[in-house]
Amino acid sequence: MPLHTADALVLRTYKLGEADRIVVFLTRDRGKKRGVAKGARRVRSRFLGSLEPLTLGRVTYFEHEQRDLVRLDEIEVTRSPLAGPIDEGLAHVGYFAELLDEWAPEASPNEKLYRLGAAVAAALGGGAPVERLARYFEYWLLRLEGLYPSFVSCPSCAADLAEAGAVVATRDRVFLCRQCARTAGPTGGTLSAEALAFLRDAGRHQPDGLAALPLSTRAGRELELAHQALISAHLEKELRSARVLREMK
Ligand SMILES: [Zn+2]
Repeated sequence: MPLHTADALVLRTYKLGEADRIVVFLTRDRGKKRGVAKGARRVRSRFLGSLEPLTLGRVTYFEHEQRDLVRLDEIEVTRSPLAGPIDEGLAHVGYFAELLDEWAPEASPNEKLYRLGAAVAAALGGGAPVERLARYFEYWLLRLEGLYPSFVSCPSCAADLAEAGAVVATRDRVFLCRQCARTAGPTGGTLSAEALAFLRDAGRHQPDGLAALPLSTRAGRELELAHQALISAHLEKELRSARVLREMK
């Protein structure tokens, strides 16, 4: 069947020709797709208001045989990121969408990734605390790929990390106890007991429950630095939107 309807999350768009856009979207069942939205840049486009990054909707698209680009026929919006408190969340919309775009392989189904993206987009639109949501999202993205280091015990000496905190060893992408970290080469900062407690909580909660999980500015910053180090090491680059967010602070 060349015509498909799917739950999907819009990741980004770019201009095509005079009046069209190419839309990159993540479907629940068939992975990431690129589609042409005809006339999307016209004033009376039927795609008006439905192509913002992190828009959730039912997407209908037509797949041509032997062609990578699909034809996007319709997006029925179920949740827009613009529904939430805008100023704080909007800068993060681009960051979350870019992370998902980088994480999702072309046309390779990954329903867990879709579900994480959809839940985080819905939480953002619902006014979840943005910084905590960002740390939560980074944690789960890395964890889904099996890239999140253990934060229970030191991989080198098995010391318990929960009380004393951990040091981020960037070369081996692990969290070490302070003792072992002394000989482990470059580090990407430390994680306090409070930051580690947040990770434990994040593993057990849905993103719309984040308002109840405490995280001080300092511990949030520790997690941000650790996650940026892990993400950059994995992608072998820094994300453009992450740089923008950092400069805004
Ligand atoms: Zn150790």
